[in-house]
Amino acid sequence: MQNGHSNEDALRSINKSSASPIRPCGQADIPEWTGKPPSRHDDRRAMRFLGERILIPESNEALDVGSIGKGRQENCNCQSPGSIDCIRFHVAEKKDELKRKLGSAFYKMGLHETGEDAAHSWTKSEERRFNTIIQENLPSSEYNFWDILRTAFRYKGSKAIASYYHNVFQVQRRAYQNHLGLEADSDDDSIEPGFLYSRQGNVGRSRSRPAASSRKRKSS
Ligand SMILES: [Zn+2]
Repeated sequence: MQNGHSNEDALRSINKSSASPIRPCGQADIPEWTGKPPSRHDDRRAMRFLGERILIPESNEALDVGSIGKGRQENCNCQSPGSIDCIRFHVAEKKDELKRKLGSAFYKMGLHETGEDAAHSWTKSEERRFNTIIQENLPSSEYNFWDILRTAFRYKGSKAIASYYHNVFQVQRRAYQNHLGLEADSDDDSIEPGFLYSRQGNVGRSRSRPAASSRKRKSS
């Protein structure tokens, strides 16, 4: 260090000038270095930071990194592959598969509340009310509807309102933008009045899951 001070001197002076001195219980607990990192999941020290393990890894299955972000590669038998209904169907299909595989861990990880499933705890009239509030408070680029939404749905809590907004409302808005070939931007643009108008009539209808057995097949 500068001026020939040792590290200890420097620490002492920091501690002296600090308003809240470092107490023994505030010290970092650094384990003795054994030469290799702990790899076992049941290492008590590691678990203190990792929390309770929900899922037990069954195998060291290699991850297919190349397919990430590329969507479904294989063809499907949907009537209109790539359509909103097709995507919804496959998302639901995969989610059901995951639910079967994970069992109770699926719920512990909160996966049942992800995506458009966030709408399951909303009634159609609540969804319409949500829509009306946004509609009546345009331009929404100023996001002046949040306080009104929080007041109107106080019993649901802010987390549920935000979840519905991001997982359901914005996803449907993106579908609307895609349909019209608009540039998708969920953050900055003012919410399209046309979307709100079309949504008002369709609330609750669009998220119904098409049943696999009743789906029309292209050809067989
Ligand atoms: Zn499909």
